[in-house]
Amino acid sequence: MNSAVKTQIFEKIKEYDSICLFRHVRNDGDCVGATKGLKELIKATWSDKKVYLVDNEKSDYLAFLGPDDDEIPDEIYKSSLGIVLDTATEERISNKKFSLCKELIKIDHHIPVTSYGDIQWIEADYAACCEMIVEFYDAFRDTFVLNDASALYLYTGMVTDSGRFRYEISGNTLRCAAILLDHGVNTASLYAHLYLESFDYLKFKSALYEKMQITENGVAYLYVDREMQEKFGLSREQASSSVGAMDGILGCLAWIAFIDNCDEEGSIRVRLRSRFVTINEIAENYRGGGHAFASGATVYNHDEMRALIAETDARVKAYKDENEGWL
Ligand code: AMP
Repeated sequence: MNSAVKTQIFEKIKEYDSICLFRHVRNDGDCVGATKGLKELIKATWSDKKVYLVDNEKSDYLAFLGPDDDEIPDEIYKSSLGIVLDTATEERISNKKFSLCKELIKIDHHIPVTSYGDIQWIEADYAACCEMIVEFYDAFRDTFVLNDASALYLYTGMVTDSGRFRYEISGNTLRCAAILLDHGVNTASLYAHLYLESFDYLKFKSALYEKMQITENGVAYLYVDREMQEKFGLSREQASSSVGAMDGILGCLAWIAFIDNCDEEGSIRVRLRSRFVTINEIAENYRGGGHAFASGATVYNHDEMRALIAETDARVKAYKDENEGWL
């Protein structure tokens, strides 16, 4: 798909000696995997090109993939091609120096909210941005060199964003994953890094199960407030992972985790998930967006939390009234 834009991007990468890669705030496996994976792909193919990946955000959960690059002078950004991966809007790009780049390319799999960049390649129905990068590699595999590190990074993004190949996957998703597995990926070690949980974290999960609530029409929700974060000594990343605890409740077609950001503005991170029912438009009403069944947003008080829950509940009710076969 989209072979013309892929060729355009390939030609731009060939043209520039210096390339800067960018990703979204609140790193996840897909944006980290896509940026690190593309960086390795370019470097392994053209050893004389300089590829920079600078990001002040650090993820404990993904630390096993290794660090990013140190900050670089503005002059380098100014003479570079910028490529932003996995990021729907400019506001969500974590390293703001992207605006200095000579030209900017957007490669993303989110539902577009606002557009940016000189060249845009968007596949909103792909399971992961890493799926796009593997497809990109495959389109030019006569030139590209895929090394072990790149295969691991790209597979990490595919596994995490697809929920271990459960959400919104297609034949293309598995064909792209197969390319990486054919190359060779140590999946046992990767899964251990990604999914083993400490005993303390299991205690936190049991407290979450006590705390979660369900609306009349089947929306599960919970609020991980400051007190709970302190009690269990949680990082913000660990607190945010609480959304996964509500996945898989019979009759609950949507679930929402609210996580206190413990900042001066009183902002509360919202992580919204669903099956069958699309929820990205609800997230867009609360300063967010994302995918049909996985979106993020921000609210600032309990009234907004209640309003968002009510809106989601009404959406689930309407879906249940109009459809059969859901569980
Ligand atoms: P999260 O719950 O933060 O993991 O978000 C779920 C998905 O929605 C991820 O793919 C995010 O990149 C995306 N997302 C989160 N917040 C926003 C936002 N404000 N605008 C657009 N996409 C978002």
